[in-house]
Amino acid sequence: MQTVPVDPFDAPLLRSVHQITLPTPFPVGPVHAYLMQGDPLTLIDTGPQTLAALAALQAGLAEHGVLLGDIQRVIITHAHADHYGLAGTIVAASGAEVWAHPLAQPLIEGWNSYLAPREQFWLDLLLAAGVPATLAEKTAQLYRGMQQFITHAPVARVLNEGDTVEVAGAAWQVLHCPGHADNLICLYQPAERLLLGNDHLLAHISSNAIVGPPPLGETERRRPLVDYWTSLCRVYELPVALVLPGHGDAVADVRSLINSRFRFYEQRLARLLDELRRKPRTVWQLADALFRKLDAVDTFLAASEVLGHLDVLEQKGQVTRETGEKGVWLYRVSR
Ligand SMILES: [Zn+2]
Repeated sequence: MQTVPVDPFDAPLLRSVHQITLPTPFPVGPVHAYLMQGDPLTLIDTGPQTLAALAALQAGLAEHGVLLGDIQRVIITHAHADHYGLAGTIVAASGAEVWAHPLAQPLIEGWNSYLAPREQFWLDLLLAAGVPATLAEKTAQLYRGMQQFITHAPVARVLNEGDTVEVAGAAWQVLHCPGHADNLICLYQPAERLLLGNDHLLAHISSNAIVGPPPLGETERRRPLVDYWTSLCRVYELPVALVLPGHGDAVADVRSLINSRFRFYEQRLARLLDELRRKPRTVWQLADALFRKLDAVDTFLAASEVLGHLDVLEQKGQVTRETGEKGVWLYRVSR
């Protein structure tokens, strides 16, 4: 007998899941938080610390008869300002517990010893990428500017790969999916095949695999695009019916979206190899060839994007890196 798949949009669990869309001051546009009804009353992600986001969150909660002070638990999917900035404000109003991946803990709690060296990391990275000094300094300072959109809170429980959490009356698996952030988790509910995917998989933009400092307890920076690729393969293997994302529309056809992302990355890798076959280049020269005319925000994202792809090519043995004049990295195709 043939079985008919349940229409994903009819998943009964979705009656307890409410998407609340909040404005952000960032180029990515609005972000989604999710109110998960049940015990404990849970919010997935928070939006940034801005008056507009707080007002939109309160209005969104009120539509379901919920006050900010009613929230009992906040699960942070990854420690980027648009996803956890309001954490401290919500905890102050409600006494809610914050749960997140252990690598997100220093950022959510705001450990000064951890935050302080980060600006220097990005400055060094941009200089090694060949970004001109004044632009590199301006770009690295953006990191300090981001702090105004963040309020900190203690993390009551860490969520690791393989954990199961009860949310909205159902059991969700914690999937650690490093790439967009090294501390990023998705929550997967296998019975109804729902994935709370935050920024791991977005319909309208390819998630930037952002280069960052070594995570706590490690000495080498991660290779975010290499990690991202692996994390995408992992979601590809799951029979996901619907992705509830951090931005934009929900995604039903997960595998064709992932396939189109793979094609996009393959094309970009091929383009970079073409550029490098002509002559050895710095990250910045490659970013300029690919994107052109970059302001400070774009500088960082473009350098991060190109470096992520070069990590992949380096890992495949297709390019090599040498450190040249003034510590600037020069990439060339392998012989
Ligand atoms: Zn985001």
